[in-house]
Amino acid sequence: SRTLRIGLIPGDGIGREVIPAGRRVLEALPSSLNLKFSFVDLDAGFDTFKQTGVALPEKTVETLKKECDGALFGAVSSPTTATKGYSSPIVALRKRLDLYANVRPVKSVRTAKSPVDLVIVRENTEDLYVKEEKTYEGPNGKVAEAIKRISEKASFRIAAMAGEIALRRQRVRDSGVDSIHSKPLVTITHKSNVLSQTDGLFRETARRALAQSQYQSVGVEEQIVDSMVYKLFRQPSAYDVIVAPNLYGDILSDGAAALVGSLGLVPSANVGDGFAIGEPCHGSAPDIQGQGIANPIATLRSVGLMLEFLGEEQAAAKIYAVVDGNLEDGKLLSPDMGGSAKTDEVVEDILRRL
Ligand code: NAD
Ligand code: MN
Repeated sequence: SRTLRIGLIPGDGIGREVIPAGRRVLEALPSSLNLKFSFVDLDAGFDTFKQTGVALPEKTVETLKKECDGALFGAVSSPTTATKGYSSPIVALRKRLDLYANVRPVKSVRTAKSPVDLVIVRENTEDLYVKEEKTYEGPNGKVAEAIKRISEKASFRIAAMAGEIALRRQRVRDSGVDSIHSKPLVTITHKSNVLSQTDGLFRETARRALAQSQYQSVGVEEQIVDSMVYKLFRQPSAYDVIVAPNLYGDILSDGAAALVGSLGLVPSANVGDGFAIGEPCHGSAPDIQGQGIANPIATLRSVGLMLEFLGEEQAAAKIYAVVDGNLEDGKLLSPDMGGSAKTDEVVEDILRRL
């Protein structure tokens, strides 16, 4: 049997209510999966910053690097006004651990009127987010500029990851899990009609990555990002895996999350070579913290995602199935989903289904 060591970084607010739920589900996985877990609690976030002056303690980074196979990150609050010395711990972690992909599956229940079952694979290290900006005085007033950097290396590896995810999703369908899709498809998103060099390089490189023989069975299409937004909202079922440079991926992922009703449902993973951090898409939700009513499902699905990227597809599939079971049954839903169940009641219902 395999033992995975998982770093738990609850962070602030409801992060502290949903990360324990993630741990409970890992501990309750059936023994037939031959998986064991050990856990290490790690600090990060705004409360940590207020206590110690740093939002991401070095000990957290070192422990993740030296001891852990993967991690779960809850959510952190950001200061409402610019605070000297504070910077986002999750952004720093992505850099320190070279987690170059942000993966966000968005899935509706099977019975939804307009079904959605897609994954956005967002490049996480470059594009406009290199933050190389400058402001200067032009002849007609101030001008500000930013660098949009696209590299062949980053574009190739993100497209290859999209190809792997498309194949993996097909394996799951082949194993009998029913789905709105029957064939793997990757949609390359760009704006190369205007940005022929930067987005042009992304597009060509992604094409080349996906033309490799291992992705032979994967359909590849392209879509210009603005028309993509239109089609994503009109006909979300047309998409399986979407790969995009950083900025478009950021915007598309929040937009796609709106298709399924509650932020409390949408997971994500930050993925590098050999490491993954599962992270619900929502924030620390100060408006509901301490009431025990946070929806744990985004976190539980993030646990599944983390396991997928650690090579434990079967365990991941099990978690997705029991979460879907809870949603389709619809009797024990949290308030954001129109129900009245507490976090623990949702978790217990899901554990029973395991
Ligand atoms: P939020 O995601 O925390 O909350 C938005 C709304 O969704 C709130 O009404 C909240 O109650 C609800 N919600 C979110 N998650 C839920 C869940 N699991 N169950 C039920 N309802 C849920 O976003 P916000 O209010 O804009 O931000 C709050 C704080 O979180 C801010 O400090 C912000 O900077 C931070 N934030 C952090 C992250 C992150 O850590 N990745 C992401 C977004 C926001
Ligand atoms: Mn965003």
